[in-house]
Amino acid sequence: MAEKPRTMIVGNWKMNGLSSDGKIMVRSFAESLATGAPVRCEIAVCPPATLLIALAEALADAGVALGAQDCHTEAGGAHTGDLSAAMLADTGCAYVIVGHSERRTDHGEADGLVRAKAEAVRAAGMVPIICIGETADQRDGGRAVEIVTGQLDGSLPEGATSDTAVIAYEPVWAIGTGRTPTTADIAEVHASIRARLGDRGAGRARVLYGGSVKPDNAKDILSLGDVDGALVGGASLNADDFWAICRASP
Ligand code: PEP
Repeated sequence: MAEKPRTMIVGNWKMNGLSSDGKIMVRSFAESLATGAPVRCEIAVCPPATLLIALAEALADAGVALGAQDCHTEAGGAHTGDLSAAMLADTGCAYVIVGHSERRTDHGEADGLVRAKAEAVRAAGMVPIICIGETADQRDGGRAVEIVTGQLDGSLPEGATSDTAVIAYEPVWAIGTGRTPTTADIAEVHASIRARLGDRGAGRARVLYGGSVKPDNAKDILSLGDVDGALVGGASLNADDFWAICRASP
């Protein structure tokens, strides 16, 4: 099997950040990058769409990639309020998160739609970060692996390769709650995702963990064999915390 990819840390700002916050956050994070010890990981930040252009400029020299949080499946047309993948690529995005549990819950997005969005992201020359994860009831019912691999089957585009998709395993009950699975539970789910990706010819695609990653648990989680990085929500809004998570990368 090919070598383990470079660890990737992705910040998901969700619906947070006005232009003033964006500037402060980026300035402070860029300062850490410039003055702190070099980090080994690849870093991406996914701000709200309103900040993409400003951040593209601010991050250009910092070696931090830009990502968006969602896109439409179509390349253009009568879809008021939506953004196409090509529009996001046009702002400088390299990544687009698709199928985040908050979109699956708030907007009723199911696997087929998530797959179509991932395909649109690929067609626009970017890499989708495809989110999957079980609810608390599903985990308590012993169905975490079954649910997550089922979501992967339904959400991953046909023909996806290790270079054209990133998977984020995010247990719904761990997002924004301060609760995380045990490292053994994370390892079990990641191993099953890895095996399924192997069946689909994408065995070395990055598989990130997301859900209450903080500076104090990042090292343990990121050291797990099948964990290739983290998708970070709340802690990515604080430059010091996000920097500490990046520094914890193996
Ligand atoms: C997320 O929203 O993708 C996430 C992982 O959030 P948090 O880190 O706040 O749990």
